[in-house]
Amino acid sequence: MFDKVLVANRGEIAVRVMRACEELDVGTVAVYSEADKHGGHVRYADEAYNVGPARAADSYLDQKAIVEAARKADADAIHPGYGFLAENAAFAARVEAADGITWVGPTSDAMERLGEKTRARRVMQEADVPIVPGTTDPVDDPEEVVAFGEENGFPVAIKAEGGGGGRGMKIVRGEGEVEDALASARREGEAYFDNDSVYVEKYLEAPKHIEVQVLADEHGNVRHLGERDCSLQRRHQKVIEEAPSPALSPELREQIGEAARRGVREADYTNAGTVEFLVEDSGATETRREGGGETADPEFYFMEVNTRIQVEHTATEEVTGIDIVRWQIRVAAGEELCFAQDDVGIDGHAVEYRINAENPANDFAPTPGSVETYDPPGSVGVRMDHAIREGDEIGGDYDSMIAKLIVHAEDRDRCLRRSERALEHFTVEGVHTTIPFHRLMLTDDRFLSGEHTTKYLDEELDDAAIEEAVERWGTEPSAGAQREGAAMHELTVEVDGKRYEVAVEDLPRGLAGGVTGSPGASETATASDSVSTGGSGGDDGDSDGPADGDEGMVSGSGEAAVVSDGAIQADMQGTVLSVEVSEGEAVAEGDVLCVLEAMKMENDVLAPAGGTVASVRVTAGETVDMGDTLVMLQ
Ligand code: ADP
Repeated sequence: MFDKVLVANRGEIAVRVMRACEELDVGTVAVYSEADKHGGHVRYADEAYNVGPARAADSYLDQKAIVEAARKADADAIHPGYGFLAENAAFAARVEAADGITWVGPTSDAMERLGEKTRARRVMQEADVPIVPGTTDPVDDPEEVVAFGEENGFPVAIKAEGGGGGRGMKIVRGEGEVEDALASARREGEAYFDNDSVYVEKYLEAPKHIEVQVLADEHGNVRHLGERDCSLQRRHQKVIEEAPSPALSPELREQIGEAARRGVREADYTNAGTVEFLVEDSGATETRREGGGETADPEFYFMEVNTRIQVEHTATEEVTGIDIVRWQIRVAAGEELCFAQDDVGIDGHAVEYRINAENPANDFAPTPGSVETYDPPGSVGVRMDHAIREGDEIGGDYDSMIAKLIVHAEDRDRCLRRSERALEHFTVEGVHTTIPFHRLMLTDDRFLSGEHTTKYLDEELDDAAIEEAVERWGTEPSAGAQREGAAMHELTVEVDGKRYEVAVEDLPRGLAGGVTGSPGASETATASDSVSTGGSGGDDGDSDGPADGDEGMVSGSGEAAVVSDGAIQADMQGTVLSVEVSEGEAVAEGDVLCVLEAMKMENDVLAPAGGTVASVRVTAGETVDMGDTLVMLQ
C-alpha cells in the first residue's frame, strides 16, 4: 500500500478521496490554488501545497506544478478525482513516467483507447456492444454532417471528441444550423479539452441515461456494480442520480451490465470506470418494432466511458456497500478484487441530489457568494459528501456544486420519503441553491414515476413551477452579494417570553438597519450595524467551492445581463469568452452580443431589442464584475 497520496483536486471529491486514504492508513496531500487557501480540502489534508493562481489552467491543471508538489511531499501516488486532469491521458502518462509515483486510475493507454469518443465507439463495436448510430471517425466538413442528417434523419448531435457533460455537444435540427453548430462544437472542444476534433451521432429524442459502474484489477478481474439512472438532467447536466434505475427490466439490466463488462475487458481497462448508455424509452422502441419488420433495434446504445471516478459514484456505494474509492486505491497498489460478480448485491435504493450554488428560478444561473448558514441533515440513510462549512465563500472560479446529499432506504418509495425530510432540514443561507428544485422534484409525478427522460426538465417541466418552488423553499442570497455594504442576519429575540425570529439588515455605519419579522412575528425593532452572525467567522476570504466536476460548461441565454439606458451590463462576475458584435453593427432582438462564462456556465448575452452597437466595452478573455458594461446599444 502507498504511504502518501496526493489528491490533484479540490472540494468534496478531494475530501472523499482523503477519507478513503485515512481508512487505509495512507497519508494525504492537498494541492490548492490562491483562491482555495482556506478550502475544505486544505483543512482536511495532512499537508497542502500551493500550485498557483485561481485560474484552473494555472493551478489545478498545471501538470508540472502538481507532480512537483508530489515530489516535495514525497507522495507515492496521485489520485486525480474527477474533472481537472482526471481524464487527461497525457497527465496519466506523465505520472506513470515519474519515478516512484503511481497513477490512481486506468493506464494512460486505456484512457487513450476509451477517452476519445470515436476510438471508444470502435472498441465497443468490436466487443459487440451496440453504439449510438453515427461516425467512428472525426468529421471536418459541414457537408458530411448534412449527409449524415439526410441519411439518418435530423436531429443530429455534433460532439467534441474530448467532450463530456454536454460540453462541446451541439444539436442540429436541420441543414441550416450545421455550419454554426460545427464551429461552436469545435470552439468548445478546443477551449475546454484542447481538442477541436468532432464527430456526429444520431440525437435520440427521448432516451434515458443509464450508466454502469465497473471496477477492474490488474489480475484480469472485471466486475460491474450495477447501474445508475442519471436521466434527470438540465441542459445535459445531471442533477439527480439514482441506483438502481426505476425503468429497467431485470433482463435489460443484466444485458447492459454484461455489455459494460465486455467493453471494459476488450479495452484492457483497469481501476474504476463508468460505461454510459442511452436507453430508448420502450414506447419509441415499440413503435419502431411495429413498423420496423423482423429485427427490433437494440434498446440500449453505448455512449461513452468515463475513465475516472464520477460525481454520482456515491449512489452505487450506498446500494452495494462497496467503497469504490477505496478500491481505486487498492487496485492501483496492485491488489486483487476480492469479490466475484455474483457477490455484488443491490440493497434497496439510493438517490444523490447535487446541491449547487445556483438559482433554479433564473435558469440555474450560478450564484457565488458567502454561505452564511450551513446546516445539513443527518441520521439514518442520509449521507453528506461536502467540503464546505458555514462562513465559506463560494467563488466564481470553479463549478457550482457545493455538496452532495445521498439518501438510502430499502426501496425507492421509502428513499424518496426520506429525501423529503432530509431536504426539508437542509438549510443553506447566503447563496441560492438547488434545494428548492429538488423539493419540487419530490412532488413531481413524472420524476416520482421514474419515467422521466433526459429531455423532461428542459422540454416539459414548467418554469413557473420552478419559480414557485424557489419562492416557497428558497433563500434570499446574501444581501452583501447584491448590494455593497448591506447584509442580512437572522436574529432571535424574546418579547414577553415569546420567541421571534427576525431578519436584521445592517447598513453602513451611521444608517439604521431595517428589521423585518418572520411570518407571524408582530414586533419590529431597530438594530444598528453591530449585529453579528452566529457563523464561524474569522475565516475571511475562505473559498471552498466545488471541485471541478465532470459537469461541463453548459449554455444558457440572456440571463447574464441587465440593461440600463442602452448599457448592457453583466449581472454576474465572469469571463468574456467571445464578443460577437462590433461597433456600428446593426443587431436584432435576441442576437448574441457576447458570451460570458461564470462558474463553468456559458451564458449568451442577448440583445434585448434591435438597434445599433454604439460601442463594445470588453474583449474576449477579460474578467468582468457584476454591473460592468459589456456593450452599449443605441
Ligand atoms: P457525459 O456523459 O460525460 O456527461 P455527453 O456529453 O456525451 O457526456 O452526454 C451528456 C448527455 O447528453 C447525455 O446524458 C444525454 O442526455 C445527452 N446526449 C448525449 N448524446 C446524445 C444522443 N446521441 N442523443 C440524445 N441525447 C444525447
